Amino acid sequence: MFKRNRPRVENTNENYAKCLCYTERCPTYNQSSLAGGLFCARGRSEKTLEKKGCVCPSCPVWAECKLNGVFFCAYGAAQ
Ligand code: SF4
Repeated sequence: MFKRNRPRVENTNENYAKCLCYTERCPTYNQSSLAGGLFCARGRSEKTLEKKGCVCPSCPVWAECKLNGVFFCAYGAAQ
């Protein structure tokens, strides 16, 4: 069976710089105590959050890595 030997999204400064989570565009992030970003690579937040919307599908990392999930901050890194 095929097994991925690299993470779906690399945890790099370059990808972090492209992340939209911590910009004013994400309503979930802005209305919570979330910190950091690049949840698609780094995994879910330990913070409790209320999902208000997700900007991940508008993110260049999402497109470049051909992701199809949302709310990585709540559900964890892209698989
Ligand atoms: S896909 Fe979402 S979690 Fe990943 S870098 Fe973009 S905005 Fe951040």
